[in-house]
Amino acid sequence: MSEDFIYYENVTVQYSPFVLGLDNISLKILKGEFVFLIGPTGSGKSTLLKLLTREVQHTDGHVWLAGKLLDDWKEKNIPILRRNMGIVPQDCGLLPNKKVWENINYALRAIGVPRRTARKRVVEILEQVNIAHRADAYPSELSGGEQQRVSIGRALVNDPPLLIADEPTANLDPECSLDIMKILYNLNKLGTTVIVSTHEHHLLSVLKKRVINLSKGKIISDDIPSSSFEVFSKESYVYTGPN
Ligand code: ADP
Ligand code: MG
Repeated sequence: MSEDFIYYENVTVQYSPFVLGLDNISLKILKGEFVFLIGPTGSGKSTLLKLLTREVQHTDGHVWLAGKLLDDWKEKNIPILRRNMGIVPQDCGLLPNKKVWENINYALRAIGVPRRTARKRVVEILEQVNIAHRADAYPSELSGGEQQRVSIGRALVNDPPLLIADEPTANLDPECSLDIMKILYNLNKLGTTVIVSTHEHHLLSVLKKRVINLSKGKIISDDIPSSSFEVFSKESYVYTGPN
């Protein structure tokens, strides 16, 4: 299974005798893919993502990540698992009493990056998510979209091969949503595997990426675009692909 980056094999999550989170799902995600998860509330999007972060455990089937079987992953090894992924929470979860750069710096220091290296990395990360100009602001002084960019930046401190974002644009207006998707898109272009759940259906046809549609814990469609386009020009949101 190791050639697939992520492999869900006949996975079921039974939360309780009457609540099914996922119903016998099989799904492969390759290294370097960009995948959208869509589906109505309660369809299983978060459950699917939480199996990878080990916030949820499957009750049947097998889950593989980077060639490792997660079925019997020990509690004490969960930090090792999460060290290899970036997790963008829906609500940003920034530390309110720390400035933007301090939020990133804090996350870097927390994983043991030496002070001087962290200072350099903070600058790189802030530029990567296009928020360097607000480095000295506090989270409360930022727009929702700016806060979410910092949150993505914080998820990048490990330089993770996998980025998981569960409805990162849920609280944003359409323009900010596009801005966030553009950042995820550019990270993916640099090689990061990105899985993002979203309600922003209007963006799907623009981004031309794989879309997995869930309903009641099952995959009802899995559309991989036949060709990928250079969707964004480097500096703007101009769509350069065919309609
Ligand atoms: P989505 O993210 O698409 O809204 P979820 O994965 O959160 O869907 O939920 C799928 C189903 O599992 C829903 O019926 C939800 O109520 C249920 N569920 C999710 N998390 C839990 C939990 N911790 N305990 C019990 N049931 C849950
Ligand atoms: Mg959810």
